[in-house]
Parts: sequence; C-alpha cells; structure tokens
Amino acid sequence: MKEILQDLSFSELVSLMEEYGEKKFRASQLYRGLMQGKKISAISDLSKPLREKLLERFEDEPVKIQEVFTGSDGTEKYLFRLADGNLIEGVFMKYSYGNTQCVSTQVGCRMGCLFCASTLGGLIRNLTSGEILSEVLVVNARHGGTLEKRQVTNLVLMGSGEPLDNYDHTVKFLRNVTAEGGIHISARNISLSTCGIVPNMRRLADEGIPLNLTISLHNTSDEDRGRTMPIARKYKISEILDACSYYFEKTGRRYIFEYSLIAGENCNRAHGEALIKLLKGRPCHVNLIRLNEVKERNLTTLSEKDAYRFLGLLQKGGLSATLRRRIGNDIGGACGQLRAGYLKGECE
Ligand code: SAH
Repeated sequence: MKEILQDLSFSELVSLMEEYGEKKFRASQLYRGLMQGKKISAISDLSKPLREKLLERFEDEPVKIQEVFTGSDGTEKYLFRLADGNLIEGVFMKYSYGNTQCVSTQVGCRMGCLFCASTLGGLIRNLTSGEILSEVLVVNARHGGTLEKRQVTNLVLMGSGEPLDNYDHTVKFLRNVTAEGGIHISARNISLSTCGIVPNMRRLADEGIPLNLTISLHNTSDEDRGRTMPIARKYKISEILDACSYYFEKTGRRYIFEYSLIAGENCNRAHGEALIKLLKGRPCHVNLIRLNEVKERNLTTLSEKDAYRFLGLLQKGGLSATLRRRIGNDIGGACGQLRAGYLKGECE
C-alpha cells in the first residue's frame, strides 16, 4: 500500500509542498480538496504533473464507499473498502440536532468481547489517522456537505476496533478532524468509546481534547465483567472509575457509561442496585442499550419492557440514565455485523 496523504496535517502538507518546490498556496488548495473528500486525481486546481507526482507516493482513494445499506428509519450503514482491500464499516444517523457518524478505528478488534461481532476474526490491522479521517470526509461529501456547511456534525468512535488500542493514530485523527480550516468537527460533538484501557484513558485526559469519554461497562463486578469482556481481567472497575475521575479533573467533562443489556448476565435487580452503588454521585450518565443479538454468540437481549424496568430502577436510585433508541437494527446495526456478514457472502 502507498502512503496516506490524509494522514498529514495542514502544516505537514505545507512542508511537503515546500519539499516538492511548489508555492505555498498549493498546500491550501490540496488541503481544501482533501477535506472536501476528493480523490487526489480529482483536485483539479492542482496541476496535472503535481497530481501525478503525488499519486506516485500516495493512495488516490484510501477509503471508498463500497456499499450503502439504508434502514427503514433512514439510517445508512456503509461498507468501506480500504486501499489494501480490507473492509470496515460505518453508520450515519440523522437526529434533530445534527447528523452523527459512527467510525471504525481498526480492521477487526483484539479485545474479544463476547457480545461483539467486530472481534470475531480478531485484529487484522490498525487504521491510520488518515484512513479514519477519510471515513468522515467521504460520508460528508456523499451527503453534499462542504467545509462551510458540514453534513456530518457529530462523531462517535464506536465502529469496529478499540480506539485506545490504536492510540497514536486515534489521537492524530482527533487533532486533524477538529482542526480549524479542515472539516472542523467540534471535540464536544465527538464521543470516544473504550472498553477501559486504563493507562490510555489517563493519557487521553492529558491530551487536552474536550471530547466525551464513554466507557463500555456492561457489568458491575470484575468477575462478572470478565465473563463477557476479557479486558476486565487486566483492568479493574475501580481503576476505570479512578481514571474517569482523573478525566473529569482534567477536562471538567462528565463521562458516560455504556451498558448493553444481556438477559441473565447483567440486568437483574441486584445488578441495578450494584450499579447505583458504584456510580451514584459521580458526574456521569448511563446509556442503556438493548443487545443487538449476534448470531455467532448465544446471548439474548432483554425485552423492551424489562429494559424500561431496569432504567426505572437506576433513575429511582439517583442515576442519570437513558435507554438508547434502537437504530438500524434491520441492517445489522451492531458493530461488525455487516462486515462479518459480507465476508461470509451474506450481503451480496
Ligand atoms: N471498542 C470500543 C467501541 C466499541 S462499540 C468499546 O469497547 O467501547 C460501542 C459500544 O457497543 C460498546 O459499548 C460495545 O460494548 C457495544 N456493543 C458491541 N456489540 C454490541 C452488541 N451486539 N449489542 C449491543 N452493544 C454492543
């Protein structure tokens, strides 16, 4: 695979143009073209020889929309093809306050969570910052977004992969996607979800990027959590909570816990009470999600009625909590389901 030009920040593009003996304004034209989601070969304000020179070294189209699946609720799910042929997925959801895109940070995942389809084939490779950024750029362009009027206003790093297991590229992506002059999505509109890689949660707090930190909790004791999330054997819930406090101290931002409801695993009355005990008084919110059943795994979701009962228990106990609306369920909305299906030839 060639290099990824979208890995470079604007100032790095300025240096590249200098290196090529080009005038400085070429860097602005190039940056603008890239941020509009254009292929290098289609940035027509650059001379043809310059484009050709760039194409010798860089991928023309690092992320390509291979297929689009549209759900009955208007949610779009994408299968993206990378330059080396690997597949990743993304989702685009319309809300009253703006449009949210869910992006992937790795091809596959090595975290091994039992309920998640992204990890079924293990980790294939990390995405580079420019590949993650390109996911956003091509979707913004697809919806007619420009740099003046973006169509992607919010981001969640909740596609396949564990962002804090690909730390450097994820942070570089965050810097580039929030940079002024680029697609410039506000960090406050970005949520990063982690299964709880504690040292990197602390490093992230030190980066000074005011995003929404989201932690996949999914159980209330280390032992029970370890049954569905192998990472729980490495980092304790108490260590995660300490890292969250550190995050709040550093950024002043409250944090969010994701809690996917799995029948018989994590959502009886005792679990509710334990969750209240763990989180009460903390500057946090709990997002309940009804499990999207992955057919390779033998886990079932809680009924809607019981999910609301569990929600009521948490709220009565003094927690700020909501039950997330199920979206894109008819198009394999959960992490990794689309790619896993596609790889098996089910979506063709
Ligand atoms: N690696 C990150 C991002 C994962 S995806 C993390 O672990 O947080 C975002 C959320 O969806 C996580 O909370 C993840 O645990 C959850 N999730 C994964 N598969 C799911 C499924 N089948 N049903 C419901 N939630 C799921």
